[in-house]
Amino acid sequence: MNKDFKISVVIPTFNEVSNIGMLVSKALPILENYAEYEMIFIDDGSTDGSLAVLKRLHELNENIKYVSFSRNFGHQMALRAGIDYATGDCIITMDADLQHPPEMIPGFVEKWMEGYEIVYTVREESDDETYFKKISSSFFYQVIKFVTDIPIEKGAADFRLIDRKVADYIIQLKEKDLFLRGVIPWLGFKQYRIDYTPAVRYSGKTKYSLKKMLTLAATGITSFSTKPLYMSAFLGFLMVGISAFYGLYALFQHLFNHNVITGWASIIIFTSLIGGIQLMMIGVIGIYLGKIFQEMKGRPGYVIQDYAGFVRGKQVFSNSEKYNYRNHNKGYKGIN
Ligand code: UDP
Ligand code: MG
Repeated sequence: MNKDFKISVVIPTFNEVSNIGMLVSKALPILENYAEYEMIFIDDGSTDGSLAVLKRLHELNENIKYVSFSRNFGHQMALRAGIDYATGDCIITMDADLQHPPEMIPGFVEKWMEGYEIVYTVREESDDETYFKKISSSFFYQVIKFVTDIPIEKGAADFRLIDRKVADYIIQLKEKDLFLRGVIPWLGFKQYRIDYTPAVRYSGKTKYSLKKMLTLAATGITSFSTKPLYMSAFLGFLMVGISAFYGLYALFQHLFNHNVITGWASIIIFTSLIGGIQLMMIGVIGIYLGKIFQEMKGRPGYVIQDYAGFVRGKQVFSNSEKYNYRNHNKGYKGIN
């Protein structure tokens, strides 16, 4: 088997001090079977000493590299930075908490060598997950399915292999509000699906707070669809239609039935209903407007305070710089 290629493993890490060592000790024996590899940890503003562990690991093994954010920029941005910095022929993204078993890496690589440009995973239900997480994630995928035209599969995880070609397209995406689970199916390419049952989190608690989950859900929906905006217009028309009928009815009562004291309940119901729908729709429009505002400012999606294992660590490589950098480093095994 021709193994003359480089594998990059990208690991977003937010306060995972008790998991990093275990992950490295499980992944290294697997990665060392390949000609070249690098493990890139993206320290997403950890405050628990994860960075110190990463520094130590880099001293011991120069293939273990890190990029450290100046604060918490979120899981998706960490993935993005890892893809920006990775120089492998294929890039595997996985969590730091061992829920994504490193033992699956050779299977990914095999499929990649067969010609699949994306090998993605879909998680099967695991008993370890809380009831709330199961329900909320299922609801999330239902909503996504309803409002977007992108086939995002239920249980899609950020545990996947992408080919260099795919990574180069992701690097070119300008959007800061990245939702990789949508971007990957949107990109197309030959994709291979692997089902897996996530392992139990090795140590620590989930870093996905309810707030982060809701933000991810809103990002997912509004990054891939403008349908909610159309729904807002549609609902508006519907309400106008209903009110027109109700208006006719009220007028009829007013003209021909002088005794009734009607309207109190219906006024309350209609005003609150319409008020609610208006607020909801203004909110939807606000989310899109906010996104335009964020993208307009053109700020970098992440800020790096420290890194190791890279020739130079500018915040974000421009595309031409990235290509030069990669070409320049061809043949310098292990330095970049
Ligand atoms: N993570 C991150 N930044 C964040 C939240 C999470 O880099 O703001 C990392 C985290 O360290 C882990 C991965 O993203 O490696 C997935 O997070 P977690 O395991 O907490 O999510 P869950 O598996 O519970 O959905
Ligand atoms: Mg996890």
